[in-house]
Amino acid sequence: MERLLLSGNEAIALGACHAGLKLAAAYPGTPSTEILEAIAKFPGIYAEWSSNEAVAVEVALGACYTGVRAMACMKHVGLNVAADAFMAASTTGVRGGLVIVAADDPGIHSSQNEQDSRNYARLGKVPCLEPSDSQEAYDFARSAFQLSEEFDTPVLLRPTTRVCHSKSVVMPSPKLELERTPQFSHEPGKLVMLPGAARERWRKVLERMEKLTIYAEKSPLNRAVEGSAELGIVASGIGFQYAREVFPNASFLKLGLTHPLPDKLIRDFAGRVKKVLVIEEVEDFIEQYLRSQGITALGKEIFPRTGEFSPDIIRDSAVKAGIIDNTPAKSWPAAGLARRPPLLCPGCPHSGVFFTLSSLGHRSTLPGKKPRPPKLTICGDIGCYTLGAYQPLGVIDTCGCMGAGISQAAGMAKAGAAEKPLAVIGDSTFMHSGINSLLNAVYNQAKICVLILDNGTTAMTGHQGHPGSGLAATRQPAARVIIEELVRGAGVRNASVVDAFDLKAVRAELRRAMASSELEVIIVRGDCPTLTRKRSRPRIINTEKCDNCGACLLIGCSAIKKSESDGIIIDSGACVGGYCALCQQVCPKEAISESIGEAV
Ligand code: SF4
Ligand code: SF4
Repeated sequence: MERLLLSGNEAIALGACHAGLKLAAAYPGTPSTEILEAIAKFPGIYAEWSSNEAVAVEVALGACYTGVRAMACMKHVGLNVAADAFMAASTTGVRGGLVIVAADDPGIHSSQNEQDSRNYARLGKVPCLEPSDSQEAYDFARSAFQLSEEFDTPVLLRPTTRVCHSKSVVMPSPKLELERTPQFSHEPGKLVMLPGAARERWRKVLERMEKLTIYAEKSPLNRAVEGSAELGIVASGIGFQYAREVFPNASFLKLGLTHPLPDKLIRDFAGRVKKVLVIEEVEDFIEQYLRSQGITALGKEIFPRTGEFSPDIIRDSAVKAGIIDNTPAKSWPAAGLARRPPLLCPGCPHSGVFFTLSSLGHRSTLPGKKPRPPKLTICGDIGCYTLGAYQPLGVIDTCGCMGAGISQAAGMAKAGAAEKPLAVIGDSTFMHSGINSLLNAVYNQAKICVLILDNGTTAMTGHQGHPGSGLAATRQPAARVIIEELVRGAGVRNASVVDAFDLKAVRAELRRAMASSELEVIIVRGDCPTLTRKRSRPRIINTEKCDNCGACLLIGCSAIKKSESDGIIIDSGACVGGYCALCQQVCPKEAISESIGEAV
């Protein structure tokens, strides 16, 4: 078979496809998103963006109950959302193979925390596989299905950011041709978790763990690499690759199956070397196990407990601990790159509403003016629009987890907050879990104002579809849920829609809704500029009219810059022009206008 250069995510997709995958469901989330995007391109496999991770696991579980192989993919925090479904899957077990991918994000590149999904494997009593490169991502995806069916269990596949997004060579194995007709057969004792049946199933889950523990001892997923007897390294995931680079002569116990752990294999390995190091990103999951078995090992007292590892971090930690000499790194560090804060894109429909919230809430301040205490309480949520927390907008007061903003605002209102709390949520997050929070707010008559920022896509993760987008995972047209109809159907009496690029309308609607003593929902609609072709001539500043007041800078548009020599300027290559024109609406001197020249 030909050698392929694949990212870990592409390799997981191909491995699952070659293992006879029939259905995949996911909610997009970095670093896992590309798995479903790759699967959606394979013919003969049903792929969907589910409305959230719990739904994705439930869809995949239902499919596996008919005897076919199914997969659900998400990022680590998505597994929190799917935890109930995950535990249900563990309890009933499977029929066709079921693999749940939870991609962890050490270093918190694009997440709200750094939790270690291996703890869910322990909680759910399911096997956990950790690939360390694309070849293993491919192989482990295949092995996971086989393990799932052999042990009647869902299997957790846990890649991390660096494995998901780095490319390395993959040698695929022959594709399995599974001849399976989806068919459901009744078996209430296995699939209907009434207490009597659940008690029996849980006993089987414990038996399953005993069998898996025996399997772990001889599993090819774990392997010893003999080297020097002076130093033995127990490692998993990308930590193994870094450790090999830093300690080329050491002995290694490379663990691919990290739950359950192989007791005897670890003990034998530790007995063959003088000193044991455990190298694993995020938590001391393996190290704790070694300690519980009375094996002396060094781990987190040397290597960081937080953040993403690199060979340099491992090398520096080992030098500090006196384990190796201060040998120079083989690789050159990347040239110092300028740090760039994350920004909303030029022409983003969120900029105008955030600017309005900022000015109404007394947050935006012209240069030289004293900031005033904020007037509005704004509960944010997870998505591009979380970037509204940065200056000059600075309009997010809380941001915890998907869908939480509306419930938090309701909590504040119920606690008796003096000002009407306001929640800001994107369309995809609203479909994900915001709708539950809105239902709760309606039911409990929470007097809050909810802004649904509808840009028609899941923009932050790369423009995936969702139930309100009209676009399926295959990029084909799909049925579309109309947000305002959904909101009114949920019982909201006051729901309006405004154009995100009409600042006057946004301001008027916000003022009205904040003055109302009812639950108000405003859908602020405007397409994501990176998807739309509706561009026109960029805006330009007339330097004779401009008095450098800085009002246009308060929109936070990255196309508008302040230059020492030329004052305020607009980057014509970045500006989306008349499609947006927010700066034009803000300028008190009418100094901003359409440029003369070719439309782009
Ligand atoms: S029109 Fe103004 S606010 Fe919109 S992208 Fe161009 S410079 Fe930015
Ligand atoms: S372009 Fe308008 S808003 Fe921007 S600094 Fe000049 S006068 Fe102020």
